[in-house]
Amino acid sequence: MATNHHAHGTGTDRVGRVAVIGAGPAGLYTTRALVDGGATVDVFDRLPAPFGLVRYGVAPDHPRMKTVATVLQSPCATGAATYIGNVEVGSDVTLDQLRRSYHAVVYATGCPRDRALRIPGEGVAGSIGAGRLVGWYCGHPDNVGHAPPLDHDGAVVIGAGNVALDVARMLARSSGELQGTDVPDAVLKSLAASRVQDIHVLIRRGPHEAKFTPAELRQLGELGNADVTVHDDGVLAYTDVSDLDLRQRQNLQIMREWTARAPRATRRRIHLRFFRSPVELRGHQRLRQVVTERTRLELDRVVPAGRGETISAGLAVRAIGYQADPIEGLPFDHITGTVPNEAGRVLRDGAPEPGLYVAGWLKRGPTGVIGTNKADGARTASEVLADLPRLPAPPQPDTDALLYRLECNGVRYTDWNGWLRLNVEEQRLGSCRGADRVKIAERQRILGIARPPLTRSNDNGAPLCIS
Ligand SMILES: Cc1cc2nc3c(=O)[nH]c(=O)nc-3n(C[C@H](O)[C@H](O)[C@H](O)COP(=O)(O)OP(=O)(O)OC[C@H]3O[C@@H](n4cnc5c(N)ncnc54)[C@H](O)[C@@H]3O)c2cc1C
Repeated sequence: MATNHHAHGTGTDRVGRVAVIGAGPAGLYTTRALVDGGATVDVFDRLPAPFGLVRYGVAPDHPRMKTVATVLQSPCATGAATYIGNVEVGSDVTLDQLRRSYHAVVYATGCPRDRALRIPGEGVAGSIGAGRLVGWYCGHPDNVGHAPPLDHDGAVVIGAGNVALDVARMLARSSGELQGTDVPDAVLKSLAASRVQDIHVLIRRGPHEAKFTPAELRQLGELGNADVTVHDDGVLAYTDVSDLDLRQRQNLQIMREWTARAPRATRRRIHLRFFRSPVELRGHQRLRQVVTERTRLELDRVVPAGRGETISAGLAVRAIGYQADPIEGLPFDHITGTVPNEAGRVLRDGAPEPGLYVAGWLKRGPTGVIGTNKADGARTASEVLADLPRLPAPPQPDTDALLYRLECNGVRYTDWNGWLRLNVEEQRLGSCRGADRVKIAERQRILGIARPPLTRSNDNGAPLCIS
């Protein structure tokens, strides 16, 4: 058989074969625990590079956070598990096909969809979800060429969490500050040419209820290119801190320090606007204004409290949370945006579906930090390992045969060595820009570097397949 695949085990000598879908933190932590428990694991990802939101979500100016990849990679880097990139489960390979090859399938596909505001004008050009903007500056292959409009002096970010702060900070950074990050060259060029001067962060609750972490908040005040103004309707001054937790107290302390310091003459300004909610996005062909209303709390619920400012802006970024998309073959809870499960076992009509599991954001919703997925993945893995002895043996327990079929269907999968080649090339590009790495975002360019070389092919470059 003409094939360029490495020989993969059939897994018959171990406790069972498991396909993990998603090579983000949840998928890779689950893989680690499964491998440690004796399972044979293949990890599939629709992207041609691993690490999910660690690579495509964590802010480019947070390089230390990304070093968690050195931990996450261990099962694939050591050969204990097999990484199979650029394969989308659901289109390139179906769940039914996987179930013929594996005892169990674990979905760890995250929550890729931005939640909607459901306000008039939300669909106007210039109104985008944080996922799209973050994906663009992180070099996500799906967002190549989707540069946001940065030709207006106003931008609005809607949200009260760390993602909103990431977005505001990235929009405020100077090209000099971004030069040493891993943003793709095209992104650096767009951000360097940005005309944005005022970045308004709309937060519908008060300063002590914001979900920011103090470390992220503090960074806003340390930007070389931007000053921060807190618009709090006077709340900061009289908030009683005695009932607040440490995080809230630290946040208030940071903001109080900012209000006490003299304004700096910086090119950009970040406005934290508390008790404000967007009610309409205005603009004919593209966004021109964001209409806000004041808010207040009534028994811990946010209620309208009269007209707010109308902000001139060409970009409005929703950073109000994420949800999963329904997955073919799996039940779905449209209210929580997750797959119903019990400790990771997929529940269909309240009963566990044998051999089907979930982990990470898809399992518990888009909350928690990267490390939260470790215990979460281990929990799912322990359920899988407990079930494996009882699960029926798959009829075709052979990864090589599966990969061969993928290849014959024109699916250009990538392997771990391909990732290592891409990694080296990105680091080389980084060294030319004074950065640790510069990301390559274009899928075809990635595949040109990461694809395992074919040993034999026909004139079209496709493998010789014997039907
Ligand atoms: C913008 C942003 C910034 C963040 N920054 C931080 C931070 O600084 N620190 C921190 O601790 N946490 C941070 N987080 C949270 C952290 O990223 C998440 O906790 C974590 O990534 C969730 O892991 P996951 O594996 O469930 O999902 P993901 O990381 O989203 O991984 C899911 C993977 O599944 C793949 N996939 C999806 N569908 C398919 C399919 N059909 N077939 C095959 N593969 C598929 C995706 O390509 C992806 O690789 C951030 C989150 C966001 C959104």
